[in-house]
Amino acid sequence: MTNHLFDLIRARMPSPGARFALLDDGREYSYQDVLDSSARFANALAALGVEPGDRVAVQVEKSVEALMLYLGTVRAGGIFLPLNTAYTPAEIEYFLGDAEPAVFVCDPAKAPALKPFAEKAGAKLETLGVGTGTLLDKANAASGSFVDVARGPDDLAAILYTSGTTGRSKGAMLSHDNLSSNALTLVDYWRFGKDDVLLHALPIFHTHGLFVATNTILLAGASMILLPKFDPEQIFKYLPQATSMMGVPTFYVRLLQDARLNRETTKHMRLFVSGSAPLLAETHREWRERTGHAILERYGMTETNMNTSNPYDGDRVAGTVGFPLPGVSARVVDPETGKALAAEEIGMIEVKGPNVFKGYWRNPEKTAAEFRADGFFITGDLGKIDERGYVHIVGRGKDLIITGGYNVYPKEVETEIDGMDGVVESAVFGVPHADFGEGVTAAVVCKPGASITASAIAKALEDRLAKFKLPKQVFIVPELPRNTMGKVQKNLLRDQYKDIYAAK
Ligand code: AMP
Repeated sequence: MTNHLFDLIRARMPSPGARFALLDDGREYSYQDVLDSSARFANALAALGVEPGDRVAVQVEKSVEALMLYLGTVRAGGIFLPLNTAYTPAEIEYFLGDAEPAVFVCDPAKAPALKPFAEKAGAKLETLGVGTGTLLDKANAASGSFVDVARGPDDLAAILYTSGTTGRSKGAMLSHDNLSSNALTLVDYWRFGKDDVLLHALPIFHTHGLFVATNTILLAGASMILLPKFDPEQIFKYLPQATSMMGVPTFYVRLLQDARLNRETTKHMRLFVSGSAPLLAETHREWRERTGHAILERYGMTETNMNTSNPYDGDRVAGTVGFPLPGVSARVVDPETGKALAAEEIGMIEVKGPNVFKGYWRNPEKTAAEFRADGFFITGDLGKIDERGYVHIVGRGKDLIITGGYNVYPKEVETEIDGMDGVVESAVFGVPHADFGEGVTAAVVCKPGASITASAIAKALEDRLAKFKLPKQVFIVPELPRNTMGKVQKNLLRDQYKDIYAAK
């Protein structure tokens, strides 16, 4: 047996001298460096006692070394377990206790606070910062060659914790084949080739920046410009050297606010991809007007890698997430009965394919609850498939509002509000209501200087939506709460407004 994922990466490498990454300090990182450095990390981990199947938990800043630690873990037969850099020590304590990693790698500055939790979980503590850290020292001192540990397609390569907006985060177990099959599909579907240069400004603790972006570039033998974070200054500095960019919708919204975005500055670009949160149809339209490029929107999640994508050739339809990727099946079912629904009917989106994870870490009950008997995974997203086969997402199932016994899909109300003059965007959510169970509520962000008022919005909706869908209250807010992946955190809004309809 061989190492399924790394063998594939190795087999598809361009010449060793070809560039893998350009770093923002001017350093160039070649594919030979990828081989050497990942071997050094694999050696360092093996020397620390990492055995096949051991977890290597990592909470570090974004760097090329952190990517090499990911590859080194895979080569050493371990399971890479990245953690959001925003997690507090108390949260880290939970993850370490749940994952029981053999090694925990953290930022040098956080080591004193996190040491007790690593010890409690029985993990060896190592550090890695940008160009520094105990693990980097060990890797630098280790050999640049390594005999990869045998791992098959179904062995785990990574565990990624879901963002956990309701309840505790769960660890999604991803196999070598989950990652490799999806990345190979994306290379083909999005036509990545050796000459591509990806502008990479996403975090690497999440499926988007780690797998969609990095694995795709590796399996295309292409290269990336690795930026520490999203910063429009950096984007415009490096844009002339790039061919493609992957981003969350907020990247596109922010870049649209910049006068440097135009046809001239983007004319050499081949592809702009968006995902991880809904891209407003308005943003898609404005981007097309300003640059001539139709953003390609795709849909995926931690548990499944990528499921659907708008086409490379053909219509990239704003407000949709395109077609199921080759090898992936998607269907929409009645959430209660599991019965398949017809085109255009809204229900639960379910998916099946080599991309779908192996289950939740140490949580067989939750795993069993999220899979159908025929192997389809219940995504938790509500949506429909239209007559042309495009998938539309209307929101998370848990965001569905049930008011007076009626279902209200927040997206339908949001789309009406977003289309009003003077409105930037909105979030519609339900909060407890003494009479109706839940009351429809809207938070709306307006354009600077816009004269539109909350009551004018509520009034305008009366002509457009059935009475039970109308927000009982509309709040004008400066911005919507978002997480690092640009997702609107409706749980925070529900919390903030939870008492507004309480019985007096
Ligand atoms: P995560 O596991 O953090 O990647 O979050 C996955 C969730 O993000 C999905 O279940 C969807 O609710 C949402 N999501 C991802 N991509 C899109 C998209 N293009 N449009 C709408 N929602 C999306």
